[in-house]
Amino acid sequence: MTKNPVAPSLRPSGLATLEMRLAQDREWLGWPPAAWMPQRPLHEGLSTLDVAIIGGGQAGLAAAAALGRQGIRAVVFDRAPADFEGPWATTARMETLRSPKELTGPALGLPALTFRAWFEAQFGAPAWVALDKIPRVQWMDYLRWYRRVLSVDVRNETAVTAVVPRGDGMVLLALRSPQGDSQVLARRVVLATGRDGLGGPALPGFLRQLDRSKWAHSSDVIDYGRLAGLRVGVVGAGSSAMDSAATALESGAQSVDLLIRRDDLPRINKAKGAGVPGLTHGHFDLPDELKWRVRHYINASSVPPPHGSTLRVSRHPNVRFNFGCRVDGVRQDGSDLRVTTPKGEFVLDFLIVSTGFMIDWHARPEYASIAPHVRAWSDRFSPPAGQHDQELADSPDLGPIFELGEKTPGGCPGLDRIHCFNYPATLSHGAVSGDIPAISDGAQRLAVGIASLFYQEDFEYHYGRLEAFDLAELAGTEWVRAPAPPLAPPPPLALAPPAGDVARGVQPT
Ligand SMILES: Cc1cc2nc3c(=O)[nH]c(=O)nc-3n(C[C@H](O)[C@H](O)[C@H](O)COP(=O)(O)OP(=O)(O)OC[C@H]3O[C@@H](n4cnc5c(N)ncnc54)[C@H](O)[C@@H]3O)c2cc1C
Repeated sequence: MTKNPVAPSLRPSGLATLEMRLAQDREWLGWPPAAWMPQRPLHEGLSTLDVAIIGGGQAGLAAAAALGRQGIRAVVFDRAPADFEGPWATTARMETLRSPKELTGPALGLPALTFRAWFEAQFGAPAWVALDKIPRVQWMDYLRWYRRVLSVDVRNETAVTAVVPRGDGMVLLALRSPQGDSQVLARRVVLATGRDGLGGPALPGFLRQLDRSKWAHSSDVIDYGRLAGLRVGVVGAGSSAMDSAATALESGAQSVDLLIRRDDLPRINKAKGAGVPGLTHGHFDLPDELKWRVRHYINASSVPPPHGSTLRVSRHPNVRFNFGCRVDGVRQDGSDLRVTTPKGEFVLDFLIVSTGFMIDWHARPEYASIAPHVRAWSDRFSPPAGQHDQELADSPDLGPIFELGEKTPGGCPGLDRIHCFNYPATLSHGAVSGDIPAISDGAQRLAVGIASLFYQEDFEYHYGRLEAFDLAELAGTEWVRAPAPPLAPPPPLALAPPAGDVARGVQPT
């Protein structure tokens, strides 16, 4: 009897084997294609990039990889240190992803680039079967591998501090890194800046009169250890609210009060129900009213917190789920926070608001020069009565390649060189620009579209290359020219056809 119960075919093959297969797959697919983009010399002493991507989270990585597949080189800038881009290993607090493990995420159609391939190569097929949901930090490990194996050019610890379209075919980016300040020009810029990437946390007005040390937004980097022994209030009941509450409880909070405006938790994740290929590929082409209707319906239905995250909170005896508790006001009384709700007053030591994110271009200094010019949906669309939705109203009104549009024609030449590939693109394009399920579809749409724009812009260059193209496929030795035929006798004189034939439409030959 064998000592190893795992059949040889089920043993993990290791990442090295997977990477060889991936390299082979890419070679078979002709990825990348032969170089076709014009070389760009220094312009005004600055490097000129074909595409600069701001943000090296999964959207930025997928966009860079999809562009690479089209033979377009992209440089990614991220202010985070290497391997700590996005929320997964920084501010996120859930134990596992919400997404089902089978989703192929940023794999761009390559089986060997999926999370599953990466996981099975290291831990084996039985471990995959046993896996329930993807652990949060393991997803980050997969993204780290993805970046490395595809050689995505990410410049970490580099904040983009200004994005300035110049109207001459270039967008100027100001950069700040530990090496100092610098500038770069890019022909196209992709904003892969994440869920809060066109604004920041949505902060309720009642926070204004409180000491900053008395509250945090759930997306802040929070030292939960300092909540030990405190009475903590968590405003909201979405996924992040549950994650914050659970982490506070696990860190020894004396009590946690969830202050939930609704009278009940939503049960159904309508966003999941919406995710069919027809929506992924067809949302952009829907009439405005239907785009608005579907996104507003999903927003208004609210996404429930995941089952596991909710149990992670409710298993603690010192948590209270307070429904119907809209926060009407908060007063600081010494070190106490007195929180007024329709169900009475709560006396707390610390508040975590899990109130989501808002779009506000003016809140981000890097967008100062474009903020007044970006066309939002509210600039040209009025929703039907009863469908008001601030998030949708503030969403940028994007073109087919995620490009920004001007509020006033001519107001900001070159604005359409900036492509918005983050969550706020959802109303225009559907959920293809941030979340795991359709990120590859969005990245491919973006990359193919940018390839087309470059070709149109560089048409004379490509035409010149076409004229100069002299790769002969025939040497002229592949056939024998037939001798000229003997001189043919002169044709007989043509006779005029009988009148009846002309009348019937018969033409002389
Ligand atoms: C807590 C949490 C849990 C989630 N769980 C799931 C889930 O289970 N399934 C799912 O499908 N989705 C989930 N999402 C939604 C979505 O998948 C994530 O938000 C994901 O991180 C989006 O990837 P991204 O690349 O768009 O943005 P991010 O991962 O946020 O990356 C954006 C990057 O841009 C960089 N950046 C921004 N501005 C600048 C600048 N000016 N200069 C330089 N760098 C800049 C940031 O440093 C950041 O690294 C979750 C989101 C959160 C917040």
